[in-house]
Amino acid sequence: MIDLHSHTNESDGACSPAQLIHEAVRARVDVLGVTDHDTFSGYDQALAAAAEAGVELVCGIELSTQLHGQSVHLLGYFPGLDGCRNGLDAFREWVLDQQASRRERNVRLAARLRELGFDVTLEEAEARGKGVTGRPHFAQILVEKGYVADIRQAFHKYLDESAAGYVYRREPPFGEGVEEIRRAGGIASLAHPVRVNGNLVALMPELCDAGLNAIEAYHSDHGPRETELYLGLARKYGMLVTGGSDFHGAVKPEVMLGTGHGGNLRIPDDLMRKLRAG
Ligand code: AMP
Ligand code: FE
Ligand code: FE
Ligand code: ZN
Repeated sequence: MIDLHSHTNESDGACSPAQLIHEAVRARVDVLGVTDHDTFSGYDQALAAAAEAGVELVCGIELSTQLHGQSVHLLGYFPGLDGCRNGLDAFREWVLDQQASRRERNVRLAARLRELGFDVTLEEAEARGKGVTGRPHFAQILVEKGYVADIRQAFHKYLDESAAGYVYRREPPFGEGVEEIRRAGGIASLAHPVRVNGNLVALMPELCDAGLNAIEAYHSDHGPRETELYLGLARKYGMLVTGGSDFHGAVKPEVMLGTGHGGNLRIPDDLMRKLRAG
Protein backbone atom coordinates (compact mmCIF):
# COMPACT_ATOMS: atom_id res chain seq x y z
CA MET A 1 0.00 0.00 0.00
CA ILE A 2 1.08 3.56 -0.75
CA ASP A 3 0.62 6.61 1.47
CA LEU A 4 2.35 9.82 0.41
CA HIS A 5 1.16 12.22 3.11
CA SER A 6 2.15 11.77 6.76
CA HIS A 7 3.48 13.80 9.67
CA THR A 8 5.89 13.04 12.52
CA ASN A 9 6.41 14.87 15.79
CA GLU A 10 9.09 16.91 14.07
CA SER A 11 6.06 18.97 12.95
CA ASP A 12 2.53 18.45 14.23
CA GLY A 13 2.21 14.66 14.16
CA ALA A 14 2.14 12.53 17.31
CA CYS A 15 4.57 9.77 16.26
CA SER A 16 8.33 9.97 16.36
CA PRO A 17 9.94 9.16 13.00
CA ALA A 18 10.72 5.61 14.21
CA GLN A 19 7.16 5.14 15.51
CA LEU A 20 5.79 6.29 12.15
CA ILE A 21 7.75 3.51 10.42
CA HIS A 22 6.37 1.06 12.97
CA GLU A 23 2.84 2.27 12.13
CA ALA A 24 3.57 1.90 8.41
CA VAL A 25 4.62 -1.73 8.89
CA ARG A 26 1.49 -2.39 10.96
CA ALA A 27 -0.75 -0.74 8.36
CA ARG A 28 1.03 -2.63 5.52
CA VAL A 29 2.17 0.62 3.93
CA ASP A 30 5.34 -0.20 2.00
CA VAL A 31 5.78 3.15 0.21
CA LEU A 32 5.58 6.05 2.64
CA GLY A 33 5.88 9.77 1.97
CA VAL A 34 6.92 11.81 5.01
CA THR A 35 5.60 15.33 4.51
CA ASP A 36 6.16 17.32 7.67
CA HIS A 37 5.31 21.02 7.69
CA ASP A 38 8.38 23.12 6.81
CA THR A 39 11.00 20.52 7.72
CA PHE A 40 12.83 17.43 6.44
CA SER A 41 13.90 16.48 9.94
CA GLY A 42 11.28 13.71 10.36
CA TYR A 43 12.17 12.24 6.98
CA ASP A 44 15.90 12.36 7.73
CA GLN A 45 15.41 10.58 11.05
CA ALA A 46 13.03 7.96 9.63
CA LEU A 47 15.49 6.78 6.96
CA ALA A 48 17.38 4.26 9.08
CA ALA A 49 14.26 2.67 10.59
CA ALA A 50 12.64 2.52 7.15
CA ALA A 51 15.63 0.76 5.61
CA GLU A 52 15.61 -1.77 8.42
CA ALA A 53 11.85 -2.37 8.10
CA GLY A 54 11.89 -2.56 4.31
CA VAL A 55 9.65 0.49 3.92
CA GLU A 56 10.41 2.66 0.90
CA LEU A 57 10.51 6.28 2.06
CA VAL A 58 9.61 9.14 -0.26
CA CYS A 59 11.16 12.46 0.66
CA GLY A 60 8.49 15.13 1.02
CA ILE A 61 7.50 18.37 2.68
CA GLU A 62 4.31 20.38 3.19
CA LEU A 63 4.48 24.16 2.80
CA SER A 64 1.90 26.82 3.71
CA THR A 65 1.62 29.44 0.97
CA GLN A 66 -0.50 32.49 0.24
CA LEU A 67 -2.87 32.52 -2.70
CA HIS A 68 -5.36 35.39 -3.10
CA GLY A 69 -5.47 35.99 0.64
CA GLN A 70 -5.89 32.37 1.70
CA SER A 71 -3.40 29.89 3.07
CA VAL A 72 -2.96 27.05 0.58
CA HIS A 73 -0.90 23.95 1.39
CA LEU A 74 1.59 22.69 -1.11
CA LEU A 75 3.35 19.32 -1.08
CA GLY A 76 6.86 18.92 -2.43
CA TYR A 77 8.15 15.45 -3.38
CA PHE A 78 11.70 14.51 -4.24
CA PRO A 79 11.48 10.85 -5.23
CA GLY A 80 14.54 10.92 -7.46
CA LEU A 81 16.98 12.14 -4.87
CA ASP A 82 18.92 9.55 -2.99
CA GLY A 83 18.20 10.14 0.65
CA CYS A 84 16.98 13.61 -0.28
CA ARG A 85 20.28 15.13 0.75
CA ASN A 86 22.15 15.61 -2.49
CA GLY A 87 21.04 18.56 -4.55
CA LEU A 88 18.64 19.94 -1.99
CA ASP A 89 20.94 22.29 -0.12
CA ALA A 90 19.52 25.53 -1.51
CA PHE A 91 15.96 24.36 -0.96
CA ARG A 92 16.76 23.32 2.59
CA GLU A 93 18.11 26.82 3.20
CA TRP A 94 14.88 28.32 1.89
CA VAL A 95 12.90 26.03 4.20
CA LEU A 96 14.87 27.43 7.16
CA ASP A 97 13.44 30.87 6.28
CA GLN A 98 9.95 29.42 6.60
CA GLN A 99 10.84 28.07 10.04
CA ALA A 100 12.05 31.52 11.05
CA SER A 101 8.77 33.17 10.01
CA ARG A 102 6.91 30.50 11.98
CA ARG A 103 8.95 31.20 15.10
CA GLU A 104 8.39 34.94 14.77
CA ARG A 105 4.63 34.31 14.49
CA ASN A 106 4.70 31.98 17.52
CA VAL A 107 6.20 34.71 19.72
CA ARG A 108 3.26 36.96 18.84
CA LEU A 109 0.72 34.11 19.11
CA ALA A 110 1.84 33.24 22.65
CA ALA A 111 1.61 36.92 23.64
CA ARG A 112 -1.87 37.18 22.10
CA LEU A 113 -3.13 34.10 23.95
CA ARG A 114 -1.80 35.51 27.22
CA GLU A 115 -3.57 38.78 26.42
CA LEU A 116 -6.77 36.77 26.12
CA GLY A 117 -6.13 35.51 29.64
CA PHE A 118 -4.66 32.05 28.96
CA ASP A 119 -1.67 30.69 30.79
CA VAL A 120 0.27 29.67 27.68
CA THR A 121 3.94 30.31 27.02
CA LEU A 122 6.09 30.07 23.91
CA GLU A 123 8.40 27.67 25.74
CA GLU A 124 5.58 25.22 26.45
CA ALA A 125 4.52 25.21 22.81
CA GLU A 126 8.07 24.85 21.53
CA ALA A 127 8.69 21.94 23.87
CA ARG A 128 6.06 20.05 21.85
CA GLY A 129 6.79 21.29 18.38
CA LYS A 130 10.57 21.18 18.22
CA GLY A 131 11.79 23.00 15.09
CA VAL A 132 8.38 23.68 13.61
CA THR A 133 5.99 24.57 16.36
CA GLY A 134 2.57 25.44 15.00
CA ARG A 135 -0.96 26.29 15.97
CA PRO A 136 -1.83 22.62 16.64
CA HIS A 137 0.66 22.65 19.54
CA PHE A 138 -0.93 25.75 21.02
CA ALA A 139 -4.32 24.03 20.54
CA GLN A 140 -3.11 20.97 22.49
CA ILE A 141 -2.07 23.19 25.40
CA LEU A 142 -5.45 24.95 25.44
CA VAL A 143 -7.15 21.53 25.58
CA GLU A 144 -4.89 20.14 28.29
CA LYS A 145 -5.36 23.20 30.49
CA GLY A 146 -9.12 22.88 30.18
CA TYR A 147 -9.74 26.15 28.33
CA VAL A 148 -11.49 24.30 25.48
CA ALA A 149 -13.00 20.85 25.02
CA ASP A 150 -10.96 19.72 22.04
CA ILE A 151 -8.59 20.74 19.24
CA ARG A 152 -11.50 21.65 16.96
CA GLN A 153 -12.87 24.06 19.50
CA ALA A 154 -9.42 25.53 20.13
CA PHE A 155 -9.17 26.40 16.44
CA HIS A 156 -12.76 27.54 16.11
CA LYS A 157 -12.69 29.87 19.12
CA TYR A 158 -9.10 31.07 19.18
CA LEU A 159 -6.76 29.95 16.41
CA ASP A 160 -8.64 29.94 13.08
CA GLU A 161 -8.05 32.79 10.66
CA SER A 162 -11.29 34.44 11.78
CA ALA A 163 -10.92 33.67 15.51
CA ALA A 164 -10.03 35.90 18.46
CA GLY A 165 -6.44 34.79 18.93
CA TYR A 166 -5.37 34.64 15.32
CA VAL A 167 -2.13 36.39 14.45
CA TYR A 168 -0.77 36.86 10.99
CA ARG A 169 2.08 34.77 9.67
CA ARG A 170 4.22 35.70 6.71
CA GLU A 171 3.85 32.88 4.20
CA PRO A 172 5.55 32.73 0.80
CA PRO A 173 3.36 33.34 -2.25
CA PHE A 174 2.03 30.12 -3.82
CA GLY A 175 4.12 30.69 -6.96
CA GLU A 176 7.32 31.02 -4.93
CA GLY A 177 6.67 27.74 -3.14
CA VAL A 178 6.06 25.97 -6.45
CA GLU A 179 9.14 27.52 -8.01
CA GLU A 180 11.42 26.55 -5.13
CA ILE A 181 10.20 22.94 -5.17
CA ARG A 182 10.53 22.66 -8.95
CA ARG A 183 13.95 24.31 -8.99
CA ALA A 184 15.12 21.71 -6.49
CA GLY A 185 13.96 18.99 -8.88
CA GLY A 186 10.77 18.21 -6.99
CA ILE A 187 7.15 17.58 -7.84
CA ALA A 188 4.82 20.34 -6.57
CA SER A 189 1.40 18.97 -5.64
CA LEU A 190 -1.66 20.88 -4.46
CA ALA A 191 -2.41 19.42 -0.99
CA HIS A 192 -5.99 18.44 -0.04
CA PRO A 193 -7.56 20.56 -2.81
CA VAL A 194 -10.96 20.19 -1.16
CA ARG A 195 -9.80 22.74 1.41
CA VAL A 196 -9.16 25.46 -1.16
CA ASN A 197 -11.86 28.10 -0.79
CA GLY A 198 -13.57 29.39 -3.90
CA ASN A 199 -13.74 27.93 -7.37
CA LEU A 200 -10.74 25.67 -7.87
CA VAL A 201 -11.78 24.84 -11.43
CA ALA A 202 -11.50 28.55 -12.30
CA LEU A 203 -8.17 28.85 -10.47
CA MET A 204 -6.53 25.92 -12.26
CA PRO A 205 -5.10 27.81 -15.26
CA GLU A 206 -3.32 30.17 -12.87
CA LEU A 207 -1.97 27.32 -10.72
CA CYS A 208 -0.81 25.53 -13.83
CA ASP A 209 0.95 28.68 -15.09
CA ALA A 210 2.69 28.97 -11.71
CA GLY A 211 4.30 25.58 -12.42
CA LEU A 212 2.14 23.33 -10.28
CA ASN A 213 2.63 19.86 -11.74
CA ALA A 214 0.59 17.57 -9.48
CA ILE A 215 -2.61 17.44 -7.49
CA GLU A 216 -3.44 15.39 -4.40
CA ALA A 217 -6.55 13.72 -5.79
CA TYR A 218 -6.55 11.03 -3.09
CA HIS A 219 -6.87 12.34 0.48
CA SER A 220 -8.81 11.26 3.56
CA ASP A 221 -10.97 14.42 3.37
CA HIS A 222 -12.11 13.52 -0.16
CA GLY A 223 -15.22 11.59 -1.08
CA PRO A 224 -15.40 9.64 -4.35
CA ARG A 225 -16.89 12.61 -6.20
CA GLU A 226 -14.10 14.93 -5.13
CA THR A 227 -11.44 12.41 -6.07
CA GLU A 228 -13.03 12.06 -9.53
CA LEU A 229 -13.12 15.84 -9.94
CA TYR A 230 -9.41 16.20 -9.08
CA LEU A 231 -8.40 13.25 -11.24
CA GLY A 232 -10.24 14.97 -14.09
CA LEU A 233 -8.43 18.26 -13.44
CA ALA A 234 -5.07 16.46 -13.35
CA ARG A 235 -5.87 14.86 -16.71
CA LYS A 236 -7.03 18.14 -18.22
CA TYR A 237 -3.92 20.06 -17.17
CA GLY A 238 -1.45 17.23 -17.73
CA MET A 239 -0.56 17.04 -14.07
CA LEU A 240 0.62 14.10 -11.99
CA VAL A 241 -1.56 12.64 -9.26
CA THR A 242 -0.51 12.17 -5.63
CA GLY A 243 -2.36 10.77 -2.65
CA GLY A 244 -2.08 10.25 1.06
CA SER A 245 -3.94 10.02 4.33
CA ASP A 246 -2.46 13.12 6.03
CA PHE A 247 -1.76 10.89 9.03
CA HIS A 248 -1.02 12.82 12.25
CA GLY A 249 -1.24 9.90 14.73
CA ALA A 250 -3.10 10.20 18.02
CA VAL A 251 -3.67 13.95 17.68
CA LYS A 252 -6.01 13.14 14.76
CA PRO A 253 -7.04 9.58 15.66
CA GLU A 254 -9.81 9.24 13.07
CA VAL A 255 -7.29 9.20 10.21
CA MET A 256 -5.49 5.89 9.60
CA LEU A 257 -2.22 5.54 7.78
CA GLY A 258 -2.80 4.10 4.29
CA THR A 259 -6.59 3.82 4.53
CA GLY A 260 -7.66 7.28 5.72
CA HIS A 261 -10.99 8.01 7.32
CA GLY A 262 -12.98 4.82 7.89
CA GLY A 263 -11.26 3.14 4.97
CA ASN A 264 -12.22 5.84 2.44
CA LEU A 265 -8.75 6.09 0.94
CA ARG A 266 -7.73 3.76 -1.89
CA ILE A 267 -4.53 4.88 -3.55
CA PRO A 268 -3.74 2.94 -6.73
CA ASP A 269 -0.55 0.92 -6.71
CA ASP A 270 0.78 2.35 -9.98
CA LEU A 271 0.75 5.95 -8.72
CA MET A 272 4.37 5.84 -7.61
CA ARG A 273 5.61 4.49 -10.94
CA LYS A 274 3.97 7.42 -12.74
CA LEU A 275 5.48 9.90 -10.27
CA ARG A 276 8.95 8.48 -10.81
CA ALA A 277 8.54 8.58 -14.56
CA GLY A 278 7.54 12.27 -14.22
P1 AMP B 1 0.24 26.58 11.38
O1 AMP B 1 0.99 25.92 10.24
O2 AMP B 1 1.00 26.63 12.63
O3 AMP B 1 -0.36 27.89 11.00
O4 AMP B 1 -0.98 25.59 11.70
C1 AMP B 1 -1.75 25.08 10.65
C2 AMP B 1 -2.07 23.62 10.92
O5 AMP B 1 -3.07 23.55 11.88
C3 AMP B 1 -2.65 22.91 9.69
O6 AMP B 1 -1.65 22.30 8.93
C4 AMP B 1 -3.56 21.88 10.29
O7 AMP B 1 -2.84 20.68 10.55
C5 AMP B 1 -3.97 22.47 11.61
N1 AMP B 1 -5.33 23.06 11.55
C6 AMP B 1 -5.72 24.17 10.89
N2 AMP B 1 -7.04 24.42 11.09
C7 AMP B 1 -7.48 23.44 11.92
C8 AMP B 1 -8.75 23.13 12.52
N3 AMP B 1 -9.83 23.90 12.31
N4 AMP B 1 -8.83 22.06 13.32
C9 AMP B 1 -7.74 21.27 13.54
N5 AMP B 1 -6.52 21.51 13.01
C10 AMP B 1 -6.39 22.57 12.21
FE1 FE C 1 -0.58 19.23 10.06
FE1 FE D 1 -2.15 20.38 5.07
ZN1 ZN E 1 -0.51 17.43 6.05
